[in-house]
Amino acid sequence: MYQDLEHKVAVITGGSKGIGAAIAKRFGREKMAVVINYNSDAAGAQEVVTQVKAAGGQALAIQADVATEAGIQALVTAAVTHFSDLDVWINNAGMENQAPTHELTLKDWQRVLDVNLTGTFLGAKAAINYFLEHKKTGNIINMSSVHEQIPWPTFAHYAASKGGTKLFTESIAMEYAKDHIRVNAIGPGAIETPINAQKFAEEKQLQETLAMIPAKRLGQPEDVAAAAAWLASKESSYVTGITLFVDGGMTLYPAFQGGKG
Ligand code: NAD
Repeated sequence: MYQDLEHKVAVITGGSKGIGAAIAKRFGREKMAVVINYNSDAAGAQEVVTQVKAAGGQALAIQADVATEAGIQALVTAAVTHFSDLDVWINNAGMENQAPTHELTLKDWQRVLDVNLTGTFLGAKAAINYFLEHKKTGNIINMSSVHEQIPWPTFAHYAASKGGTKLFTESIAMEYAKDHIRVNAIGPGAIETPINAQKFAEEKQLQETLAMIPAKRLGQPEDVAAAAAWLASKESSYVTGITLFVDGGMTLYPAFQGGKG
């Protein structure tokens, strides 16, 4: 637990399930106030609100599409109106779908880029404006992926969005370090969440994925939430512009396991 996080105000996009929900619950245990954004799953978001409160934090669920400026503004307004401040912004909302690139529709390409990359830009921009206006020490965490580094055939739009997130994170970390605003990314590997529940339910796919993880287990949303809590806390106060991989070693060229190559 990080004492300095107590009473800090966070916005988490895509917080109704998966990694976002786990971060919200962890922030609840840190006694923070959390705006939990959801796009369509109101009941899921409400359940997370209940769990954050039960853990000792404050929480509120707000519907917004992160790919729109109006949606992002609604999240800032909710934080300020209900919790009187903003300290930590987590750009977590994300989506993916699979298609061979020569068959990928412009609509699917644009939606994935809009949510994963433009949503991250809009969230970061709104948070930075708030931090600058209020001369605050601000903290932004962008949910990237191991696929900011590892190419992913048939998910080229997703990989492009996360590769973009990496350099966007590094660029603004450099741009606003002088203003005491830290910006970092987290790069999850294979984490057990609804986004890939179907995939991991199939034994063959599960084994294929485990073969790519030196730690030989899937990650849990709580593993990612622990990284988010550390990056949000002042324990990491000299860290900016990194991607913290939470991947059981997936980015370590696992094909070389056992001395192969
Ligand atoms: P998930 O599908 O469980 O959750 C994604 C959340 O984003 C959902 O709550 C969804 O409603 C929300 N969302 C989608 N579009 C939105 C929009 N337009 N506006 C607001 N919210 C929206 O997935 P997850 O696994 O928890 O993924 C969270 C983040 O972690 C994503 O950015 C994803 O790319 C990243 N990630 C996940 C994994 C993994 O293995 N699960 C690995 C690497 C990166």
